[in-house]
Amino acid sequence: MTRPPAGVPLQVVQILRRVWADKTIQPRVKTFAWRLLRLALGTASRVHRIISAINENCSRCGNLEDEKHLFFECSYARAVWFASSIGLRTDALSSSGRGIHTQIATILQQGQSQASAGMIFSIMWCLWKSRNDHRFNNKDWPIARVLHEAKAIDRAYDMGLEEDAISDHNHRIIPNANCVNTGATFPTNEHMQEGPRIFCDASVGLQETSPGRIQTGVGIFILTQPACSLSSAFFFSGGNITGFGTLGG
Ligand SMILES: [Zn+2]
Repeated sequence: MTRPPAGVPLQVVQILRRVWADKTIQPRVKTFAWRLLRLALGTASRVHRIISAINENCSRCGNLEDEKHLFFECSYARAVWFASSIGLRTDALSSSGRGIHTQIATILQQGQSQASAGMIFSIMWCLWKSRNDHRFNNKDWPIARVLHEAKAIDRAYDMGLEEDAISDHNHRIIPNANCVNTGATFPTNEHMQEGPRIFCDASVGLQETSPGRIQTGVGIFILTQPACSLSSAFFFSGGNITGFGTLGG
């Protein structure tokens, strides 16, 4: 394993190494875990720093939406964790300001029943998908759906049913989402190497938002050293540039 980049908390490195080494976790869940822990997820508060017109608050409860809120503090997330097979009470987790990795590490270390890294990150990924559907499509997933999908994702890979779906990065229809992935580029197992990282993601809506207009979005994330932070991004919508911004890297 190559030397981890400077400025990344040791706990983050340890969790990512554990996730990457776990052959029972789907590559797309690993990619999500990487984006989450390397602070590259487009939470409302992060995107708001780039485009001030974007509401920085949680679409469910109106509180500031950062990773901690989204995955552990929002009442919706708390209900999901409590109803899960882990039976986790997130209010019992440390709420120190050191980042979401401290909470994740606590869950992993507590030896909670059935709290595999695969299940934990599958739940978090489904919370993220549920959040996107709520925020962008105004759809409210029942808590049972989040847990059902997380369980299916975790089990499906064990059963070797996902090989075709994840064999490439091209034009994969996202289940239960009203859009088509246009070919995101993902980090590989070289995630720990030093140097800047650039990620692209894009989606195209399947329904016209108004006559002749289909919503599209493109994001470019650049992670620079030593800061593990987003340094710039572009956003497009309906063929027109609706936002552009840069954060100091
Ligand atoms: Zn909330």
